[in-house]
Amino acid sequence: MPEKNLRVLLSSIKPRLHDEQFVFCSVLEREFKKLTIQPICMFREAEGVSLIVAKSDADSASLKYDGTWSLITCEVNSDLNAVGFIAAMSKMISDAGISVNTVSAFHHDHLFVPSDRVEEVMLLLQEPPQKPVPKRDPIDNIRELIPMIFSEHRAHKALGSLLSQGHALITSKFGEPLPPDMRIFYERCSDVKIFDRYSILSLQKAIDVDRSQLPRSWFPFCELPSGGLIAIDLSEPNGVYPIIDLDCGDFDYIVIALSFTEFLDKILAHGQDSNYWIDHSEQYGTAKVHLKNSQVRKKYEEYWDLLGPENGSQRCMADACENKNVKLSVFCRQHQFEQVHKVPCPFTSDAPADTLAEYVLKE
Ligand SMILES: [Zn+2]
Repeated sequence: MPEKNLRVLLSSIKPRLHDEQFVFCSVLEREFKKLTIQPICMFREAEGVSLIVAKSDADSASLKYDGTWSLITCEVNSDLNAVGFIAAMSKMISDAGISVNTVSAFHHDHLFVPSDRVEEVMLLLQEPPQKPVPKRDPIDNIRELIPMIFSEHRAHKALGSLLSQGHALITSKFGEPLPPDMRIFYERCSDVKIFDRYSILSLQKAIDVDRSQLPRSWFPFCELPSGGLIAIDLSEPNGVYPIIDLDCGDFDYIVIALSFTEFLDKILAHGQDSNYWIDHSEQYGTAKVHLKNSQVRKKYEEYWDLLGPENGSQRCMADACENKNVKLSVFCRQHQFEQVHKVPCPFTSDAPADTLAEYVLKE
């Protein structure tokens, strides 16, 4: 639904910066006809054809230009009739002494700003930090979301007979069971498609995903149109279930929610045009994955060696742990390690063999 209210528009600009740089050129009509490059924008004037083209294209076609520009797309779906929206945005930027060229296309408004000042512009456009969403109980909340998924999206009813088998397989392959809200979800539905964007995989499909590069407890459960995957860390680091976008890095992934329910809630509310986490304020931080032999692995090994054998006189303080404490702690070796490093201990038999995740999350 296009947004006409100017105040709402300005507070909901979702600026997206493109990697590519652009240049403005003017060519004669006959020169234009010979060009093989594809401009992102063109306009015919009496004096010639104005083009906005990727800098790399302009260079390959030997076009003249001065200055390179960065492109920011305002992801809010602005109604072309929203009087004053462009003017208000331009004013905000020019008040900071930065020049700006705007292009209103059918779906969005686009800003071209000098490349060397684009970071300042991005700061100006970022929406003010949002108030933290009051935490709701994920279990109550998932029960409210499931009927909405059945009525407004595509979902199959779960086949109950396969469930206990699936859960057992998950616990053995991933080292941990699914969190309670996710269990409720899979008891009710399977093969869910939300908008035309998010495919929540059936348990079987999710179990079969190749995850050789991922920590053992990362369960990839959702596929994006790009083929990229979203995973949940079942090991519950820091008392949460991080939802991780696997499509945005090799070893440095973005955490986009702290529970399965929060993720569902946000994709349902955000709509289908984009992923809600392109908005940086929706990101919780990063999950770094370390492969074997990395620096961090070495640090962990040193700490593990330092802890020494479990030959203390008490039982480990961790719930239901039968081991004795190590010399320097009231915990056993594994639990002391996990207390300090906040990652599953890689040295105990049921921990991931070759990968570790380390979280850097915002408060
Ligand atoms: Zn213990």
